[in-house]
Amino acid sequence: ALALLLDQVFNEPFAPKPKPFGKRSVSADAIQFGLDNDEFTLFFQPKVNVQSQCVFGAEALIRWFSSEFGGIVGPDEFIPLAEESSLINAITERVIDMSIQELKRFKAEGHRLKLSINVSMLNLSQLDFATNLAAKLKNEAIDPSDIILEITETALMRDATNVLEVLTRLKILGICLSIDDFGTGYSSMSQLQHIPFSELKIDRSFVYGAGENDSTRRILESSASLAQQLAIASVAEGVETREDWDRISALGIDLVQGYFISKPLPPEDFSTWLREWNGLTEN
Ligand code: C2E
Ligand code: MG
Ligand code: MG
Ligand code: MG
Repeated sequence: ALALLLDQVFNEPFAPKPKPFGKRSVSADAIQFGLDNDEFTLFFQPKVNVQSQCVFGAEALIRWFSSEFGGIVGPDEFIPLAEESSLINAITERVIDMSIQELKRFKAEGHRLKLSINVSMLNLSQLDFATNLAAKLKNEAIDPSDIILEITETALMRDATNVLEVLTRLKILGICLSIDDFGTGYSSMSQLQHIPFSELKIDRSFVYGAGENDSTRRILESSASLAQQLAIASVAEGVETREDWDRISALGIDLVQGYFISKPLPPEDFSTWLREWNGLTEN
């Protein structure tokens, strides 16, 4: 009971965590049930400009409030499974629709921000992906350049058909592309050159606590300088402490995302956060 009370007061899990569901129990049928019953929702995590400390935008992160499993199932537990079936297309479509609605609301509340959406490589092998997305944005009067699609570096390496074509179409339509989890894959310079990215997002494993490990810090530094040389924006994800922030700032990295600024928040809490954010306060 005390643990439950602490949970409510601090909004943090003091109670013993429920056992992870384990990959076997999350099935394609369960995901389909979740889709049919509107159990998926989005949390938003801000991206802040390091120099100005102004809000640049937010990343939409999917959450599954599963009635079957009695709690939140994290994306790492069901996205890989959804990618094994064609369910990832329905999930991404849902994520895009919800993203557009929330972005409209944030804008109506007077905020300017760019919204980052995670897409799977499998989505990008659908030849009509770019035109469908552009049509949705047009219907809802959203500027394509307010949307950033994040594609993980490991996914990029898989040689999927149509992907380069779809990425090029997206770029032509004015939609921005970001390479996510940079440093965890093995993309070559020439690959980076041929894909029209406008943002490089350094994986959080090279960001938090980078001061304590020489090789981690060198990967962080060379990723930052690669972005600079390609003249694209750099983002550090997983900034958790003041020390992380200071190191990122000294490296000239453009944008920061991480618990040091804010955890991912439900839409209403994110609206409140946007209203209250006033830059970092000293001490
Ligand atoms: P990602 O795109 O790299 O997203 C960043 C992840 O890092 C998020 O985990 C976020 O909650 C977490 N994070 C942010 N700041 C910090 C920090 O300071 N410290 C630590 N330790 N973690 C931090 P999340 O929300 O669990 O998402 C995990 C992954 O699932 C995402 O990684 C992304 O690849 C995937 N994902 C999330 N939403 C979607 C979606 O709508 N569609 C698809 N296809 N994939 C998604
Ligand atoms: Mg991402
Ligand atoms: Mg990432
Ligand atoms: Mg990551």
